[in-house]
Parts: sequence; structure tokens; C-alpha cells
Amino acid sequence: TTVTTTRDTQVFDLIAKEQHRQESGIELIASENFVSPAVMEAAGSVLTNKYAEGLPGKRYYGGCEVVDQIEQIAIDRAKELFGATWVNVQPHSGAQANTAVFLAALKPGDTILGFDLSHGGHLTHGSPVNISGKYFRPTFYGVERETGVINYDIVEQTAKREKPKMLICGASAYSRDWDYARLRAIADEVGALLLADVSHPAGLIAKGLLNDPLAHSHIVTTTTHKTLRGTRGGMIMMRNDFENPFGIKTQKGELRLMSSLLDSGVFPGTQGGPLEHIIAAKAVAFGEALTDDFYDYAVQVKANAQAMANAFLSRGYEIISGGTDNHLMLIDLRSKGLTGKLAENTLIKADITINKNMVPFDDKSPMVTSGIRVGTAAMTTRGLKESDMEQIVVYIDKVLMNHDDDATLATVKEEINEWMKAFPLYKS
Ligand code: PLP
Repeated sequence: TTVTTTRDTQVFDLIAKEQHRQESGIELIASENFVSPAVMEAAGSVLTNKYAEGLPGKRYYGGCEVVDQIEQIAIDRAKELFGATWVNVQPHSGAQANTAVFLAALKPGDTILGFDLSHGGHLTHGSPVNISGKYFRPTFYGVERETGVINYDIVEQTAKREKPKMLICGASAYSRDWDYARLRAIADEVGALLLADVSHPAGLIAKGLLNDPLAHSHIVTTTTHKTLRGTRGGMIMMRNDFENPFGIKTQKGELRLMSSLLDSGVFPGTQGGPLEHIIAAKAVAFGEALTDDFYDYAVQVKANAQAMANAFLSRGYEIISGGTDNHLMLIDLRSKGLTGKLAENTLIKADITINKNMVPFDDKSPMVTSGIRVGTAAMTTRGLKESDMEQIVVYIDKVLMNHDDDATLATVKEEINEWMKAFPLYKS
């Protein structure tokens, strides 16, 4: 063979080490999950060799007959999963999906109104360090201090004041469901497009366990790797296509539909060749998500989050908004006299992975923070149930209350490593 097959031990030894890390610890990062071996096989397939700029049936490269079929399966399954009539599965990531939408649906300098990053929003919704905050005029709504919940009357007042061209909902650290119908009414009132970024709860939405964003939003974006349990990636969807608001016409003089502008926003607007191996992995993951087993999984993700929230509350921890409707929760550690940074750095010593997170109205910097964010998507995939969530919180509490006692941290780590042997993840 002309293809060299020499194993790169330097890299593959590290991959083995990472697999061991994933298998021996407790993974509570709310944006992570564990894909199936089938999804991983597709992602590691020969499709990585193929260029396929364009869309199925309309490519700029030859030899696309097979990848056309694969990409079409991904599109069709995504449509079925979310009740969409148009989908683009090519965005390399959630950030890419959002950027493509902005390119297609906004003009530089337009006002956008998003959920405040420091209240749980995402940086692609107008943060000054992201293209969304640099090329557009970002404005924000947040949660109420007293309730930790979004007050839609205030969103409406802010929208009337700021007159955004796009109203963005969706978050990285908001544990409550969204009122898409109300948001659409607000968007209509001020003449804005409504973009719902459902990256986090997409898997729960797909199974009907949360409100349906496609029923009310003009455009919906998502990542495919969080509760949806696919490979890392992004996607854009619509249920109802519409004529673009800029009067952009086709060569035949007809108004172009938003779907056409969004396709162009992805390629050639913000990306080159699509990653067909990743699109194949998305197709496999969507196939899994269409099964009844995935419904049971999604129900368990929510049940586990409820159990975890109750376990934290019963130990005197403060959860922003008092609980959760989805797979995650944001915990304010100030009442325990701890910072997010200390909690993250201490928990990792016991092989519990979480991330520090700003809480609304935080008085600490983003590198320190007053909170932690935890989610149940990954550990539910491993097979853990409600009683296991209780046990995880017992361990978290023990670690945090003994953060300067290395012997206790070592004992907890050993117990967790032993416990996790009962939940094998991948065959080595
Ligand atoms: N949008 C939201 C709401 C997210 O939570 C994330 C990821 O954390 C993204 C977009 C960005 O996704 P990616 O990291 O794939 O670019």
C-alpha cells in the first residue's frame, strides 16, 4: 500500500489516555455527551477524503454521488426529527451555524437583541469578542435578579427601545424552557426576525419534551453534540421558509427565499467544503435520535436533572431560578463561600468534571466566577439513574466541603474510579 499505516504512538497514546480519563471519571459538563460507536465510526471514515462544495445534486466537485446520498439522509432525518421543511447540515459547529445566519439575514451594523452572556447566553449572540458583537450592534436582555428567570415583558420593552433586526433566544446556561410564541409576538411587533439557538436542549426538543421552537421561530440553529448526542457540529433549520426581507432576487428576477440565502450563508459565505464524514456521523446520530430508545434516554436526562437539582437543594445549594426544566442547572456557590474556579479545580482532583460559570449579577470575573454549571446528558448516556445523581451530589458536596483535604479528595477519586467500572463506555 502507498498509504503509510505506521501508528503515531505519540498521538494515539494520548488518545488512549483521554479515553481512560473519560471512562474513569464523572462527566457533568452540560455541553458534552458520549457518541455511540456507530457515530464515531462514521466520523472516522473514508468520507474525510472527499471534497463536496455545494449541496446534494448541485456540487462543484465530481465523484459526489455517494456523499450526496449520505448528506440527503442527514437532511431528511433532521427534518423528521424536528418537523422542519428545510435544513442545512453543513455548519462545522454551532458558532459557524450562527455566523452563517447572521451573514444571510442581517446587514453590518444592524441591531441584534440576545440573551446576556453573563446571565447564561452564548458568546455568538452579540459578545464584543465575537463577530456577532463586532459586526452588528449588540443589545441584551437578561434574567430578573429576584427570580433568575427571563421576564418577557422586559424583553418586549427592550425590543421596543432597541428596535433589533434580529431577536435571538437560546442559551448555554439557562435551566428554564423558552416561550417561543411570546418571543415571536415580540419580534413581529418590532419587525425583527426570531432566531432560536437550541444547541443545548435540542435532544429534548426533538422528542417533544420541551416547547417547539420551530413552530414560532423564523430560523433555528443547533449544535449536534450536546443533548442530541451526535458528533461535534452545527445545523440550521426552518419549518416555514419565507421571502428574504432585502428584496434580493434570483437571476430570473424572483425574490430569493430565506432558505437560499441561508444555504449561501454557509457556503460560500462562511465555509468551504463540507465535512462529509461529520455529516455522515450526524446522519447516524439523527437515526439514533429518531428511535424510541432515544425518547427513553431524553426522559431520563430530564429525570436525572430533576433528581440532581433536588439533591443540591436539599444540601443547601442555591440553584439559579430554583430548579430546572431541562438537562442542566447553574449553581450559585456564594452562599457556600466558594468560587467557581475553586470548585472546578477541586472537583477535577476527584475526577468530577464540571465547568465554572458566571451567575447572573456575578461580582467575580469570568476566570473566577461565583458558579458552576452541571448537566446530566453525558452521565445519562452512561446509564446512570436518579439514585446515582444523588450519589454524585454527595460526592460533589464532600469534595467542596473538604477542598483543602487532599486525603479526602484522593479517597473520593478512588471510589469514583471504582464505581465507573460498572458503566463501561467504549471497548478498547
Ligand atoms: N450556541 C449555543 C447556545 C451554545 O451553547 C454553543 C456551544 O457551547 C454554541 C452556540 C457554539 O457551538 P460550537 O462550540 O459548536 O461552535
